[in-house]
Amino acid sequence: ETQFAKCYVDDVYNLVKKRNPNESEFHQAVKEVFDSLVPVLASNPKYIEHGILERMVEPERVISFQVPWVDDQGMVQVNRGFRVQFNSAIGPYKGGLRFHPSVNASIIKFLGFEQIFKNSLTGQPIGGGKGGSDFDPKGKSDKEIMRFTQSFMSELSKYIGPDVDVPAGDIGVGAREIGYMFGQYKKMRGGFQAGVLTGKGLAYGGSLGRKEATGYGTVYFVEEMLKDKGFSLKGSTVVVSGSGNVSIYAIEKAQQLGGNVVACSDSSGYIFDPQGINVDTVKQLKEVEGKRISEYVQEHPHAQFTPGCSGIWSIPCDIALPCATQNEIDEIAANLLVSNGVIAIGEGANMPSTLEAIEIFHANKVLFGPAKAVNAGGVAVSALEMAQNSMRLSWTLEEVDEKLQDIMKNIYRNSIEASHEYNAPGNLVVGANIAGFKKVADAMISQGII
Ligand code: GLU
Repeated sequence: ETQFAKCYVDDVYNLVKKRNPNESEFHQAVKEVFDSLVPVLASNPKYIEHGILERMVEPERVISFQVPWVDDQGMVQVNRGFRVQFNSAIGPYKGGLRFHPSVNASIIKFLGFEQIFKNSLTGQPIGGGKGGSDFDPKGKSDKEIMRFTQSFMSELSKYIGPDVDVPAGDIGVGAREIGYMFGQYKKMRGGFQAGVLTGKGLAYGGSLGRKEATGYGTVYFVEEMLKDKGFSLKGSTVVVSGSGNVSIYAIEKAQQLGGNVVACSDSSGYIFDPQGINVDTVKQLKEVEGKRISEYVQEHPHAQFTPGCSGIWSIPCDIALPCATQNEIDEIAANLLVSNGVIAIGEGANMPSTLEAIEIFHANKVLFGPAKAVNAGGVAVSALEMAQNSMRLSWTLEEVDEKLQDIMKNIYRNSIEASHEYNAPGNLVVGANIAGFKKVADAMISQGII
């Protein structure tokens, strides 16, 4: 059976490569999941009989559109917009929008594919989707951001809705962009449908705790993973890459739990602050002023700024939380972390480690928490935001945070249990992929070939 399952997985993987040429990030995400699934397929031939893998790797719908807008000089600009509606077996499509010049079909497909399993792991009724644009928000004025997001939403609004597809933020899309998109959606539809987007402002249907959820959830997961092995964040040295929404709240929670966070970064370079990163300064620079992280040293002259972003992984630490972007930890970075004695990795970003890096961590017995489990707290609280919108009421911060903690603990427990059940004890990559996969696959079988 194992041989047969392996052949099936290889065939579908080759099909993915043939149908999606040059989409290396998408291939990478599929390979990571598929390698984990062989034992499940071997013991459950129904998944092969129902063609589940072929169906899962082909998005239910791919929308690609033009986003024209006028810049402050009066010049017409044109960007590409995407929405990939990947899988709706367990709920409406759900996933963020990324605005970054690197966005293309491969990036959106890898993110959308990951989102299927991540969303399933949360235990919430949400399917998988993702979208975005190659628009670069860097250096744009507030009015340019508004015009661009309105144009983007004019087209996207045709394909989304509270029971259809519910976008949120990701890199380059925060509360401001969600606000402008919500306004435009409301205008296009002629109705206030609070549940069409998540990550909204608190004044118009947002959830308390959503802003903090991805970062806090990352740390809750890592603490659970450490606890299982008799470790804890308390007294540990932590490196967090990035300085956006995920990083900021991962730093804050890691510090609350007694970790010493000595570094963070942005695309220009990294800050090393042996006294502990001052998270209020990072919030001020990034959330309020939109400045580069190098400015940190103005207020904290004892800290050091080093240009170049991969260098951050040369800093010795017990716990590394990559919270910046895909493939930020390659073989070289992984080997550096291992030789400096790292104990645990928690992926706050989506697919921040290459397949080679993950192999190095596993071979060296480093505790490794994969993105789709570790960073699921963000989308989990998005689902809680949808629930509150449907009920037309709002929970307190304490209520939301308690639910988030439970969700992260459950994700850890379900992933560990699946790893034991399928002969890869302690391997959370395998465990998370299997636990996320089964629920979606079973729902697909129940609903027939549609
Ligand atoms: N962009 C986040 C993620 O990667 C959140 C998505 C959401 O809240 O829908 O999961």
